[in-house]
Amino acid sequence: MPIATVNPATGETLKTYEAMGEEEIERRLQLAEATFRTYRTTSFEERSALLRRAADLLDEDNESVARVMTTEMGKPLKQARAEAAKCAKAMRWYADRAASLLADEEPDAADVRDSGASRVVVRYRPLGPVLAVMPWNFPLWQVVRFAAPALMAGNVGLLKHASNVPETALYLEDLFHRAGFTEGCFQTLLIGSGAVDEILRDDRVKAATLTGSEPAGRAVASTAGEMIKKTVLELGGSDPYVVMPSADLDRAVRVAVTARVQNNGQSCIAAKRFIVHTDVYDAFAERFTEGMKALRVGDPMEEETDVGPLATEQGRSDLEELVDDAVRAGAEVLCGGERPEGPGWYYPPTVLSGIDREMRIHREEAFGPVATLYRAADLAEAVLIANDTPFGLSSNVWTRDEAEAEEFARDLEAGGVFINGMTASHPALPFGGVKRSGYGRELSGHGIREFCNITTVWQV
Ligand code: NAP
Repeated sequence: MPIATVNPATGETLKTYEAMGEEEIERRLQLAEATFRTYRTTSFEERSALLRRAADLLDEDNESVARVMTTEMGKPLKQARAEAAKCAKAMRWYADRAASLLADEEPDAADVRDSGASRVVVRYRPLGPVLAVMPWNFPLWQVVRFAAPALMAGNVGLLKHASNVPETALYLEDLFHRAGFTEGCFQTLLIGSGAVDEILRDDRVKAATLTGSEPAGRAVASTAGEMIKKTVLELGGSDPYVVMPSADLDRAVRVAVTARVQNNGQSCIAAKRFIVHTDVYDAFAERFTEGMKALRVGDPMEEETDVGPLATEQGRSDLEELVDDAVRAGAEVLCGGERPEGPGWYYPPTVLSGIDREMRIHREEAFGPVATLYRAADLAEAVLIANDTPFGLSSNVWTRDEAEAEEFARDLEAGGVFINGMTASHPALPFGGVKRSGYGRELSGHGIREFCNITTVWQV
C-alpha cells in the first residue's frame, strides 16, 4: 500500500509520502538508542510533566486533529473529537498513576529472610526502544494507549503507523516534541509493512507491540519469537452480543446498534454476532433491524452522520465478499447488503439472519457495519455459539438475572465480559484478548508493566 492520505468519502488522493530510506531509518534507530540511555534515568515527575503538557496540547488541537482523522479514515467527526479527548484523558491518567503503578515492590519479610537477603526489592525498569505497529481504525487512540504508558515507564517509542494515516502519524510525533519530549523519545517511521521485519531484527529494538489483523500479528510475532523479543498483540475480534429474556430489550436494542456501527463498524471490539434467546429473538430482530435502517449514512464531516464510508476500497470489497458468501449459502438479508452508487467507499448498515457454521462470516471478522443474528434455545446454546469463533477479544451479555450473568462471566472465552453495556476501553481497566485475538494487555497497571524489565534487586 502506498503511504498516502486518500479521502474515503470521495476516493480522492490528497497527499502521497515518500517512504523513509535506509539511511533515515538508521539515523532514527541511533537516535532512539541514544535517547533511551538518558531518558531512562529521568524521574516520574519529569515524565509526568511532559505527558501532561502533551495532553493539554492535544486538547487544544482537538478540532484540527479530529478533522485530520476523519479525512484520512472516514470516521464521523464527532467520534474523532471524542477519540482525541479520550487520548488526552489516558495521558493524564498515566501521568498521575505511573509512579505508583511502577513503585518498587517489597516481598513479604519472612520470604526475604528465607531468601538469605537483608533486603529485596522488585523494580520495574524500562526495556528500551519499543516498535509499535499500529492500525488506522483508531489512529490516535491505538498509538496513545501504547505511547503514554511506554513513555511513563522510561521506554522510547518507534511508530510504524498504517500506510493510510500518515498525517495522523506525523501529528503524533510533532505533538510529543512540542510537549518537550526530546526528539528520540517518540519517532514516526514513514515506512511500508515490508520494512518492519528488518527493524524488528535490529538489536536496538527491544520489543514490539502490534494492533491489527491476524496475518500482520503472525508476521511480527514470528520474527520477534526468532529474535526472543517480547511482544503484545491486539488482533481482530468477532465479539458476541448475547440477549437473554430478562434483558431490558429497549436498551439492549439501542446499544446493539451503536455497538455494531461505532467507527463505521470498523472496531475490533464492535459487537458483531448477535445471539438472541428464542423467547425474545423476533422482537429483537425486528427492532434492531429498524434501528440499523434508521441510521444516517453520509459525509463523515457532517455533524448528523452516524455512519461514514469504510476506510479503504479493499476493506469494502472484503466486507462485500463476506456478505455475498453468506447470502449464496442461504443467509437472509433483513436490511442493507447492497453497495450504493457514487463516489466513496460507503456500505450500508446490514443485518443478516440464518447464519450457519459453514459461512465465512461465522468464522471471520466482518470489519464494517454488518451484523449477524443467531437464535439460541437457552443459555448453554448461547455460550456455545458465542465461543464458536477463533477470536476471543471481548463479549457482551444482556440479562437481569445475576446467576446468569455469573455463568456468562465464567464461561465466555474472551478478554472482557460486559454485562448490560457495550464493550469499551478505559485507562484503568486491562484491555486485550485470548485465542486469535492476541495476547498481553494494554492499559491499567497490566499494560504499563508489559514493556518493563521486572528486576529483582537482592542485597545481603
Ligand atoms: P493490518 O492490515 O494488519 O494493519 C495493521 C498494521 O500492521 C499496519 O501498520 C500495517 O501496515 C501493518 N502490517 C500489515 N501487514 C504486516 C506485516 N506482514 N508485517 C508487519 N506489519 C504489517 O490491519 P488494519 O486493516 O489496519 O486494521 C484492522 C484490524 O486490526 C482488524 O482485524 C481489527 O480487529 C484489528 N484491531 C485490533 C484491535 C485490538 O485492540 N485488538 C484494535 C484495532 C484494530 P500497512 O498499513 O503499511 O500495511
